[in-house]
Amino acid sequence: MNYTEVMVRYGELSTKGKNRKTFISQLAQNVKRTLGDFPAVKIHADRDRMHLLLNGEDSSLIIPKLEKVFGIQNFSPSIRVEKTLPAIREMVQTIIKEVYQPGQSFKITSKRSDHDFELDSNELNRELGGAVFEVFPEIAVQMKKPDINIRIEIRKEGAYLSYETIRGAGGLPVGTGGRGMLMLSGGIDSPVAGYLAMKRGVEVEAVHFASPPYTSEQALQKAKDLAAKIAPYGGSMQFIEVPFTEIQEEIKRVVPEGYLMTVTRRMMLRLTDAIREERKGLVIINGESLGQVASQTLQSMVAINEVTTTPIIRPVVSMDKGEIIEIAEKIDTFELAIQPFEDCCTIFAPPQPKTRPKLEKAQSFEARLDIEGLMARAMAGLKVSEITEISEQEEEFSDLL
Ligand code: ATP
Ligand code: MG
Repeated sequence: MNYTEVMVRYGELSTKGKNRKTFISQLAQNVKRTLGDFPAVKIHADRDRMHLLLNGEDSSLIIPKLEKVFGIQNFSPSIRVEKTLPAIREMVQTIIKEVYQPGQSFKITSKRSDHDFELDSNELNRELGGAVFEVFPEIAVQMKKPDINIRIEIRKEGAYLSYETIRGAGGLPVGTGGRGMLMLSGGIDSPVAGYLAMKRGVEVEAVHFASPPYTSEQALQKAKDLAAKIAPYGGSMQFIEVPFTEIQEEIKRVVPEGYLMTVTRRMMLRLTDAIREERKGLVIINGESLGQVASQTLQSMVAINEVTTTPIIRPVVSMDKGEIIEIAEKIDTFELAIQPFEDCCTIFAPPQPKTRPKLEKAQSFEARLDIEGLMARAMAGLKVSEITEISEQEEEFSDLL
Protein backbone atom coordinates (compact mmCIF):
# COMPACT_ATOMS: atom_id res chain seq x y z
CA MET A 1 0.00 0.00 0.00
CA ASN A 2 1.43 3.37 -0.91
CA TYR A 3 0.66 5.63 2.00
CA THR A 4 0.44 9.38 1.71
CA GLU A 5 0.59 10.31 5.38
CA VAL A 6 1.58 8.99 8.76
CA MET A 7 -0.21 9.93 11.94
CA VAL A 8 2.05 9.69 14.99
CA ARG A 9 0.79 9.31 18.57
CA TYR A 10 3.07 10.59 21.29
CA GLY A 11 4.24 8.37 24.11
CA GLU A 12 4.67 9.25 27.72
CA LEU A 13 5.39 12.86 26.93
CA SER A 14 1.70 13.65 26.78
CA THR A 15 1.71 13.61 30.55
CA LYS A 16 4.61 16.00 31.04
CA GLY A 17 2.66 19.20 31.69
CA LYS A 18 4.55 22.35 30.80
CA ASN A 19 7.52 20.48 29.38
CA ARG A 20 5.29 19.19 26.67
CA LYS A 21 6.26 21.83 24.16
CA THR A 22 9.95 21.05 24.49
CA PHE A 23 9.26 17.35 24.17
CA ILE A 24 7.17 17.76 21.05
CA SER A 25 9.63 20.04 19.30
CA GLN A 26 12.54 17.74 20.18
CA LEU A 27 10.60 14.78 18.81
CA ALA A 28 9.83 16.68 15.61
CA GLN A 29 13.52 17.52 15.27
CA ASN A 30 14.52 13.87 15.82
CA VAL A 31 11.99 12.63 13.28
CA LYS A 32 13.28 15.19 10.80
CA ARG A 33 16.87 14.08 11.33
CA THR A 34 15.97 10.41 11.03
CA LEU A 35 14.15 11.12 7.78
CA GLY A 36 16.97 13.26 6.40
CA ASP A 37 17.11 11.13 3.25
CA PHE A 38 13.48 11.97 2.47
CA PRO A 39 13.52 15.74 2.01
CA ALA A 40 9.98 15.95 0.59
CA VAL A 41 8.40 14.78 3.86
CA LYS A 42 6.69 17.59 5.75
CA ILE A 43 6.26 17.37 9.51
CA HIS A 44 3.37 19.00 11.35
CA ALA A 45 3.59 18.58 15.10
CA ASP A 46 0.67 19.75 17.17
CA ARG A 47 -0.32 19.24 20.79
CA ASP A 48 -1.81 15.79 20.49
CA ARG A 49 -0.50 14.29 17.30
CA MET A 50 2.18 14.61 14.69
CA HIS A 51 1.34 14.33 11.03
CA LEU A 52 3.90 13.45 8.39
CA LEU A 53 2.95 14.32 4.83
CA LEU A 54 4.99 12.00 2.65
CA ASN A 55 4.66 13.98 -0.58
CA GLY A 56 5.48 11.00 -2.77
CA GLU A 57 8.30 9.54 -0.64
CA ASP A 58 8.23 5.75 -0.24
CA SER A 59 6.40 4.82 2.97
CA SER A 60 7.92 1.32 3.10
CA LEU A 61 11.34 2.91 3.66
CA ILE A 62 10.08 5.47 6.13
CA ILE A 63 8.17 3.13 8.45
CA PRO A 64 11.24 1.15 9.68
CA LYS A 65 12.99 4.42 10.48
CA LEU A 66 10.06 5.73 12.49
CA GLU A 67 9.94 2.50 14.48
CA LYS A 68 13.27 3.45 16.06
CA VAL A 69 12.44 6.95 17.20
CA PHE A 70 11.99 7.20 20.97
CA GLY A 71 8.98 9.18 22.18
CA ILE A 72 6.55 7.59 19.74
CA GLN A 73 3.88 5.36 21.25
CA ASN A 74 2.52 4.16 17.91
CA PHE A 75 1.71 5.41 14.45
CA SER A 76 -0.79 4.83 11.69
CA PRO A 77 0.16 5.21 8.06
CA SER A 78 -2.79 6.53 6.08
CA ILE A 79 -3.92 7.13 2.55
CA ARG A 80 -5.51 10.35 1.43
CA VAL A 81 -8.25 10.29 -1.19
CA GLU A 82 -10.58 12.88 -2.61
CA LYS A 83 -13.33 13.87 -0.20
CA THR A 84 -16.19 12.21 -2.12
CA LEU A 85 -18.18 9.15 -1.17
CA PRO A 86 -17.30 7.16 -4.34
CA ALA A 87 -13.56 7.76 -3.84
CA ILE A 88 -13.73 6.76 -0.18
CA ARG A 89 -15.83 3.65 -0.94
CA GLU A 90 -13.37 2.56 -3.57
CA MET A 91 -10.39 2.89 -1.22
CA VAL A 92 -12.21 1.02 1.56
CA GLN A 93 -12.75 -1.83 -0.90
CA THR A 94 -9.11 -1.78 -2.00
CA ILE A 95 -7.97 -1.97 1.61
CA ILE A 96 -10.29 -4.80 2.61
CA LYS A 97 -9.27 -6.85 -0.43
CA GLU A 98 -5.67 -6.43 0.57
CA VAL A 99 -5.92 -7.29 4.25
CA TYR A 100 -8.91 -9.61 4.75
CA GLN A 101 -8.24 -13.24 5.68
CA PRO A 102 -11.19 -15.66 5.85
CA GLY A 103 -12.79 -15.75 9.28
CA GLN A 104 -11.70 -12.25 10.31
CA SER A 105 -14.05 -9.59 11.66
CA PHE A 106 -14.07 -5.89 10.83
CA LYS A 107 -15.32 -2.51 11.86
CA ILE A 108 -15.48 0.94 10.30
CA THR A 109 -14.62 3.92 12.50
CA SER A 110 -15.43 7.22 10.88
CA LYS A 111 -14.73 10.67 12.18
CA ARG A 112 -15.91 13.86 10.55
CA SER A 113 -13.64 16.77 11.46
CA ASP A 114 -14.97 18.73 8.49
CA HIS A 115 -18.62 19.28 9.33
CA ASP A 116 -19.42 20.51 5.84
CA PHE A 117 -19.10 16.98 4.54
CA GLU A 118 -22.41 15.57 3.30
CA LEU A 119 -22.60 12.52 5.63
CA ASP A 120 -22.12 12.37 9.38
CA SER A 121 -20.00 9.67 10.99
CA ASN A 122 -22.89 7.23 11.56
CA GLU A 123 -24.00 7.52 7.97
CA LEU A 124 -20.43 7.07 6.81
CA ASN A 125 -20.00 3.95 8.95
CA ARG A 126 -23.12 2.46 7.39
CA GLU A 127 -22.21 3.38 3.82
CA LEU A 128 -18.66 2.11 4.08
CA GLY A 129 -19.67 -1.05 5.95
CA GLY A 130 -21.94 -1.70 2.97
CA ALA A 131 -18.98 -1.23 0.64
CA VAL A 132 -17.11 -3.95 2.54
CA PHE A 133 -20.08 -6.38 2.36
CA GLU A 134 -20.22 -5.85 -1.41
CA VAL A 135 -16.74 -7.39 -1.63
CA PHE A 136 -16.97 -10.03 1.13
CA PRO A 137 -20.64 -10.76 1.95
CA GLU A 138 -19.67 -13.35 4.57
CA ILE A 139 -17.44 -11.05 6.67
CA ALA A 140 -18.50 -10.48 10.31
CA VAL A 141 -18.87 -7.07 11.91
CA GLN A 142 -17.49 -6.76 15.42
CA MET A 143 -17.49 -3.58 17.48
CA LYS A 144 -15.14 -4.72 20.25
CA LYS A 145 -11.63 -5.71 19.18
CA PRO A 146 -12.27 -6.43 15.52
CA ASP A 147 -9.44 -8.01 13.55
CA ILE A 148 -9.55 -5.19 11.03
CA ASN A 149 -10.44 -1.65 11.97
CA ILE A 150 -10.62 0.72 9.03
CA ARG A 151 -10.51 4.30 10.23
CA ILE A 152 -11.71 7.18 8.13
CA GLU A 153 -11.21 10.80 9.00
CA ILE A 154 -12.80 13.55 6.93
CA ARG A 155 -10.69 16.67 7.08
CA LYS A 156 -10.70 19.92 5.14
CA GLU A 157 -7.99 18.74 2.73
CA GLY A 158 -9.36 15.29 2.06
CA ALA A 159 -10.41 11.93 3.45
CA TYR A 160 -7.78 9.90 5.32
CA LEU A 161 -8.00 6.14 5.62
CA SER A 162 -5.89 3.90 7.83
CA TYR A 163 -6.11 0.34 9.02
CA GLU A 164 -2.91 -0.53 10.80
CA THR A 165 -1.33 0.80 13.95
CA ILE A 166 2.38 0.16 14.26
CA ARG A 167 4.01 0.05 17.65
CA GLY A 168 6.63 2.75 18.25
CA ALA A 169 9.84 2.48 20.29
CA GLY A 170 8.28 4.10 23.37
CA GLY A 171 10.52 6.03 25.75
CA LEU A 172 11.22 9.75 25.62
CA PRO A 173 12.61 11.82 22.73
CA VAL A 174 16.41 11.67 22.72
CA GLY A 175 17.81 15.02 23.78
CA THR A 176 15.09 15.95 26.27
CA GLY A 177 17.10 14.43 29.10
CA GLY A 178 20.45 16.15 28.59
CA ARG A 179 23.72 14.65 27.41
CA GLY A 180 25.69 11.68 28.73
CA MET A 181 28.97 10.01 27.79
CA LEU A 182 28.69 6.30 27.07
CA MET A 183 31.77 4.20 27.72
CA LEU A 184 31.46 1.99 24.67
CA SER A 185 33.65 -1.09 24.38
CA GLY A 186 33.24 -3.73 21.71
CA GLY A 187 31.21 -5.96 24.02
CA ILE A 188 27.60 -6.97 24.46
CA ASP A 189 26.74 -4.85 27.47
CA SER A 190 27.72 -1.28 26.74
CA PRO A 191 25.71 -0.85 23.50
CA VAL A 192 22.65 -2.12 25.37
CA ALA A 193 23.38 0.35 28.19
CA GLY A 194 23.61 3.15 25.63
CA TYR A 195 20.36 2.14 24.00
CA LEU A 196 18.56 2.08 27.35
CA ALA A 197 19.87 5.52 28.33
CA MET A 198 18.75 6.91 24.98
CA LYS A 199 15.34 5.38 25.54
CA ARG A 200 14.89 7.66 28.52
CA GLY A 201 15.72 10.76 26.52
CA VAL A 202 19.49 11.03 27.07
CA GLU A 203 21.59 12.23 24.15
CA VAL A 204 24.52 9.83 24.10
CA GLU A 205 28.09 10.36 22.91
CA ALA A 206 30.31 7.29 22.67
CA VAL A 207 33.77 7.23 24.29
CA HIS A 208 35.99 4.37 23.18
CA PHE A 209 39.49 3.53 24.44
CA ALA A 210 41.82 2.07 21.85
CA SER A 211 45.38 0.85 22.39
CA PRO A 212 46.96 0.35 19.01
CA PRO A 213 48.96 -1.65 18.03
CA TYR A 214 47.82 -3.96 20.85
CA THR A 215 44.24 -3.46 19.70
CA SER A 216 43.49 -3.80 16.02
CA GLU A 217 41.87 -1.55 13.46
CA GLN A 218 39.03 -4.10 13.35
CA ALA A 219 38.41 -3.73 17.08
CA LEU A 220 38.02 0.01 16.62
CA GLN A 221 35.78 -0.49 13.59
CA LYS A 222 33.67 -2.91 15.59
CA ALA A 223 33.05 -0.27 18.27
CA LYS A 224 32.11 2.22 15.53
CA ASP A 225 29.77 -0.31 13.95
CA LEU A 226 28.12 -0.88 17.30
CA ALA A 227 27.69 2.88 17.67
CA ALA A 228 26.12 2.90 14.19
CA LYS A 229 23.59 0.32 15.32
CA ILE A 230 22.31 2.45 18.18
CA ALA A 231 22.82 5.86 16.53
CA PRO A 232 19.48 5.76 14.63
CA TYR A 233 17.56 5.80 17.90
CA GLY A 234 18.80 9.33 18.36
CA GLY A 235 19.47 10.36 14.75
CA SER A 236 23.27 10.22 14.85
CA MET A 237 26.05 9.84 17.42
CA GLN A 238 29.39 11.45 18.17
CA PHE A 239 32.15 8.87 18.55
CA ILE A 240 35.21 9.83 20.54
CA GLU A 241 38.29 7.66 20.22
CA VAL A 242 40.75 7.96 23.09
CA PRO A 243 44.40 6.97 22.55
CA PHE A 244 45.08 4.69 25.50
CA THR A 245 48.30 2.90 24.57
CA GLU A 246 50.75 4.99 26.56
CA ILE A 247 48.60 4.82 29.68
CA GLN A 248 48.24 1.06 29.48
CA GLU A 249 51.96 0.56 28.96
CA GLU A 250 52.75 2.79 31.92
CA ILE A 251 50.24 1.04 34.17
CA LYS A 252 51.63 -2.33 33.14
CA ARG A 253 55.14 -1.12 33.95
CA VAL A 254 54.55 0.28 37.43
CA VAL A 255 51.43 -1.33 38.92
CA PRO A 256 51.41 -4.88 40.40
CA GLU A 257 49.35 -7.42 38.50
CA GLY A 258 46.51 -7.66 40.99
CA TYR A 259 45.74 -3.96 40.58
CA LEU A 260 46.24 -3.51 36.81
CA MET A 261 42.54 -3.74 36.14
CA THR A 262 41.46 -1.40 38.94
CA VAL A 263 43.99 1.28 38.04
CA THR A 264 43.20 0.96 34.33
CA ARG A 265 39.51 1.46 35.04
CA ARG A 266 40.23 4.45 37.22
CA MET A 267 42.18 6.06 34.39
CA MET A 268 39.40 5.33 31.91
CA LEU A 269 36.84 6.86 34.19
CA ARG A 270 38.97 9.95 34.83
CA LEU A 271 39.42 10.48 31.12
CA THR A 272 35.74 9.93 30.36
CA ASP A 273 34.92 12.50 33.00
CA ALA A 274 37.35 15.01 31.52
CA ILE A 275 35.80 14.44 28.08
CA ARG A 276 32.34 14.83 29.58
CA GLU A 277 33.29 18.14 31.08
CA GLU A 278 34.78 19.40 27.85
CA ARG A 279 31.72 18.37 25.87
CA LYS A 280 29.16 19.59 28.39
CA GLY A 281 27.78 16.20 29.32
CA LEU A 282 25.98 15.69 32.62
CA VAL A 283 26.55 12.03 33.39
CA ILE A 284 28.55 8.93 32.44
CA ILE A 285 26.91 5.72 31.26
CA ASN A 286 28.57 2.31 31.26
CA GLY A 287 27.73 -1.33 30.72
CA GLU A 288 28.67 -2.68 34.14
CA SER A 289 26.54 -5.52 35.40
CA LEU A 290 26.95 -6.69 38.98
CA GLY A 291 28.95 -9.83 39.50
CA GLN A 292 29.66 -10.49 35.84
CA VAL A 293 33.46 -10.20 36.03
CA ALA A 294 36.09 -9.19 38.55
CA SER A 295 35.80 -5.49 37.81
CA GLN A 296 32.10 -5.59 38.49
CA THR A 297 31.88 -6.42 42.17
CA LEU A 298 30.66 -3.79 44.62
CA GLN A 299 34.20 -3.56 46.06
CA SER A 300 35.55 -2.85 42.58
CA MET A 301 32.93 -0.24 41.94
CA VAL A 302 33.92 1.51 45.16
CA ALA A 303 37.61 1.45 44.22
CA ILE A 304 37.00 2.64 40.65
CA ASN A 305 34.17 5.09 41.15
CA GLU A 306 36.18 7.09 43.68
CA VAL A 307 37.88 9.19 40.99
CA THR A 308 34.74 11.17 40.27
CA THR A 309 31.55 12.47 41.83
CA THR A 310 29.82 12.62 38.45
CA PRO A 311 26.76 10.36 38.47
CA ILE A 312 27.34 7.09 36.66
CA ILE A 313 24.28 5.51 35.09
CA ARG A 314 24.48 1.72 34.82
CA PRO A 315 21.35 0.69 32.94
CA VAL A 316 22.19 -3.04 32.92
CA VAL A 317 23.59 -3.27 36.44
CA SER A 318 20.99 -5.69 37.74
CA MET A 319 20.25 -7.62 34.59
CA ASP A 320 21.27 -11.22 33.99
CA LYS A 321 23.45 -11.87 30.96
CA GLY A 322 20.51 -13.55 29.22
CA GLU A 323 18.33 -10.49 29.70
CA ILE A 324 21.04 -8.23 28.27
CA ILE A 325 21.50 -10.54 25.29
CA GLU A 326 17.78 -10.46 24.61
CA ILE A 327 17.92 -6.70 24.19
CA ALA A 328 21.16 -6.91 22.19
CA GLU A 329 19.40 -9.24 19.77
CA LYS A 330 16.42 -6.95 19.51
CA ILE A 331 18.60 -3.95 18.62
CA ASP A 332 20.83 -6.10 16.40
CA THR A 333 24.11 -5.52 18.24
CA PHE A 334 24.61 -9.09 19.44
CA GLU A 335 26.11 -10.65 16.30
CA LEU A 336 28.60 -7.81 16.00
CA ALA A 337 29.50 -7.82 19.67
CA ILE A 338 30.47 -11.49 19.72
CA GLN A 339 33.00 -11.11 16.93
CA PRO A 340 36.37 -11.92 18.46
CA PHE A 341 38.43 -8.74 18.33
CA GLU A 342 40.35 -8.11 21.53
CA ASP A 343 39.74 -4.81 23.26
CA CYS A 344 42.28 -2.93 25.30
CA CYS A 345 41.19 -4.39 28.60
CA THR A 346 41.42 -8.03 27.70
CA ILE A 347 44.94 -7.71 26.34
CA PHE A 348 46.48 -6.14 29.42
CA ALA A 349 44.28 -7.86 31.95
CA PRO A 350 45.97 -10.41 34.23
CA PRO A 351 44.31 -13.83 34.26
CA GLN A 352 43.10 -13.23 37.82
CA PRO A 353 42.47 -9.64 38.82
CA LYS A 354 41.48 -8.91 42.41
CA THR A 355 37.77 -9.19 42.94
CA ARG A 356 37.98 -7.18 46.17
CA PRO A 357 40.50 -4.44 45.49
CA LYS A 358 41.26 -2.01 48.29
CA LEU A 359 40.86 1.64 47.50
CA GLU A 360 43.94 2.71 49.48
CA LYS A 361 46.12 0.23 47.62
CA ALA A 362 44.82 1.36 44.25
CA GLN A 363 45.60 4.94 45.24
CA SER A 364 49.09 4.18 46.40
CA PHE A 365 50.04 2.18 43.27
CA GLU A 366 48.54 4.84 41.11
CA ALA A 367 50.69 7.49 42.75
CA ARG A 368 53.60 6.02 40.74
CA LEU A 369 52.02 7.39 37.57
CA ASP A 370 52.27 10.88 36.12
CA ILE A 371 48.49 11.07 35.94
CA GLU A 372 48.32 14.68 34.78
CA GLY A 373 50.81 14.28 31.98
CA LEU A 374 49.28 11.01 30.77
CA MET A 375 45.83 12.51 30.77
CA ALA A 376 46.91 15.67 28.98
CA ARG A 377 48.52 13.69 26.18
CA ALA A 378 45.48 11.42 25.80
CA MET A 379 43.14 14.43 25.75
CA ALA A 380 45.28 16.07 23.08
CA GLY A 381 44.92 13.00 20.87
CA LEU A 382 41.11 12.57 20.95
CA LYS A 383 39.55 11.80 17.60
CA VAL A 384 35.92 12.78 17.19
CA SER A 385 33.73 11.57 14.35
CA GLU A 386 30.03 11.51 13.65
CA ILE A 387 28.42 8.12 13.25
CA THR A 388 25.19 7.54 11.38
CA GLU A 389 23.32 4.39 10.51
CA ILE A 390 25.18 1.92 8.30
CA SER A 391 23.20 1.46 5.13
CA GLU A 392 22.75 -2.11 3.97
CA GLN A 393 24.90 -1.43 0.94
CA GLU A 394 27.79 -0.34 3.10
CA GLU A 395 27.28 -3.41 5.25
CA GLU A 396 27.53 -5.65 2.19
CA PHE A 397 30.56 -3.76 1.00
CA SER A 398 32.39 -4.21 4.29
CA ASP A 399 31.55 -7.93 4.17
CA LEU A 400 33.54 -8.13 0.94
CA LEU A 401 36.64 -6.59 2.45
P1 ATP B 1 30.93 -4.90 27.65
O1 ATP B 1 30.12 -6.09 27.25
O2 ATP B 1 30.17 -3.61 27.55
O3 ATP B 1 32.28 -4.85 27.00
P2 ATP B 1 31.98 -6.30 29.82
O4 ATP B 1 31.01 -7.23 30.45
O5 ATP B 1 32.99 -6.82 28.88
O6 ATP B 1 31.18 -5.10 29.18
P3 ATP B 1 34.10 -4.92 31.18
O7 ATP B 1 35.07 -5.31 30.16
O8 ATP B 1 34.43 -5.10 32.62
O9 ATP B 1 32.69 -5.60 31.05
O10 ATP B 1 33.73 -3.41 30.97
C1 ATP B 1 32.82 -2.76 31.81
C2 ATP B 1 32.43 -1.46 31.15
O11 ATP B 1 33.56 -0.61 30.99
C3 ATP B 1 31.91 -1.66 29.74
O12 ATP B 1 30.56 -2.01 29.73
C4 ATP B 1 32.16 -0.30 29.18
O13 ATP B 1 31.15 0.60 29.57
C5 ATP B 1 33.48 0.11 29.80
N1 ATP B 1 34.61 -0.24 28.91
C6 ATP B 1 35.35 -1.36 28.89
N2 ATP B 1 36.26 -1.33 27.90
C7 ATP B 1 36.10 -0.16 27.25
C8 ATP B 1 36.74 0.47 26.13
N3 ATP B 1 37.73 -0.10 25.47
N4 ATP B 1 36.29 1.68 25.75
C9 ATP B 1 35.26 2.27 26.41
N5 ATP B 1 34.64 1.73 27.46
C10 ATP B 1 35.05 0.53 27.88
MG1 MG C 1 34.03 -5.87 27.44
